[in-house]
Amino acid sequence: MDLLRDPAAPNHHDRVHSVVVVGAGILGAAAAFALAARGHRVTVIDEQAETPSASDAAFGWVTRAGSAAAGPARSIPELERVLADTRALLGRLDPTPWVSWSGAASWAETAQETRARIAQSRSGMQLMPSGVRSLTLPGLRGHASAIAWAADEAILDAAQYRSAMLDQAVALGATLRPGRVLHVTPLPLNSYRVLEESGAAVECDSLVLACGVGIPKLAAQLGGSVAIDSSPAARFTFTAPDLEVTAVVSTPQFEIRPDGTGRFVAAEDVVAGEPEETTVMRARASLSAVRKAFGLAATPEPEALTIGWRPIPAGRALVCEALPDHPGALVLAAHPGITLAATLALRVADWAADRAHVS
Ligand SMILES: Cc1cc2nc3c(=O)[nH]c(=O)nc-3n(C[C@H](O)[C@H](O)[C@H](O)COP(=O)(O)OP(=O)(O)OC[C@H]3O[C@@H](n4cnc5c(N)ncnc54)[C@H](O)[C@@H]3O)c2cc1C
Repeated sequence: MDLLRDPAAPNHHDRVHSVVVVGAGILGAAAAFALAARGHRVTVIDEQAETPSASDAAFGWVTRAGSAAAGPARSIPELERVLADTRALLGRLDPTPWVSWSGAASWAETAQETRARIAQSRSGMQLMPSGVRSLTLPGLRGHASAIAWAADEAILDAAQYRSAMLDQAVALGATLRPGRVLHVTPLPLNSYRVLEESGAAVECDSLVLACGVGIPKLAAQLGGSVAIDSSPAARFTFTAPDLEVTAVVSTPQFEIRPDGTGRFVAAEDVVAGEPEETTVMRARASLSAVRKAFGLAATPEPEALTIGWRPIPAGRALVCEALPDHPGALVLAAHPGITLAATLALRVADWAADRAHVS
């Protein structure tokens, strides 16, 4: 059942039941939207819904193929569906967040490595045709002789995407509560009690733990063991009037994209614990590499630098499954989460439908 593609929501074959979603990052927002669209009674609780730790800091690349600069893409079956699912979900949002299906260019240190990555890729990566290169990266100097090109990938404003899904969930009847969840407790008849720091408590039939780095603690209260690593990355913006780039450009030295307003967004990995000045120096070094690659008159200055802590399930790309002894408590975590949000939202909605049928 694929409700996000069916405008006739809600699906009246599902028994309505109550679901608490802990976490209003991109995954919690997508889950809340899909559940509300199926007609469930949804409560979303987040301690910092205005500034989720990772989601609003994201670069915003919805990528099936990944980057030739990052080594062989991980084999995640869900990635095959992410572009179609994201398109379908965006089509249900009003207002639509800023999105551009303008493709992604990437390259490795050497042309040989880039060609090898293209050969390894099973997901739509090809050698960039010269006509596309002159349209997409007209100012690029000759050093990148082989460029990997994924024509159908998207860039979007992750913060707008997240808040549009939350708004739509609320319009469909969901409740959004600010608050830190301290405890989750099982109740008789397969239901749960969710206790907030404020002392407020909510009871529900099902529970979605989409709270990123907060998942292990709450899962442990239900006897589950879920390891979530946390890795920092920086997002910043810059202006460069003489830079002509219409798609994602991902290389070992920099990752940039246009933002639709004439400015650019960039992302950089960060070493945990490094001083902020070091991160700023990394950002400057990457923009110096952009200047060289595109022959810009001057090195742009990084602006609005934000560090986000990416929740990364230990040893796997995603977790979207109920805790072993709690079929009503689903853990939802993924990296890359912006890319996987729409596809995992469908999985959450299907899980809730199964729950509603058996309970
Ligand atoms: C710089 C950067 C660039 C990135 N670029 C991309 C990209 O281009 N494409 C891509 O797909 N991904 C990208 N990512 C990764 C992506 O942002 C994450 O995978 C995704 O945002 C994770 O979403 P989430 O909802 O799981 O977690 P989060 O956004 O961290 O949300 C979790 C929420 O849970 C809340 N919470 C935690 N504990 C509790 C509690 N006890 N009670 C209540 N609330 C709680 C937190 O307040 C938070 O709001 C990037 C990340 C960064 C930082």
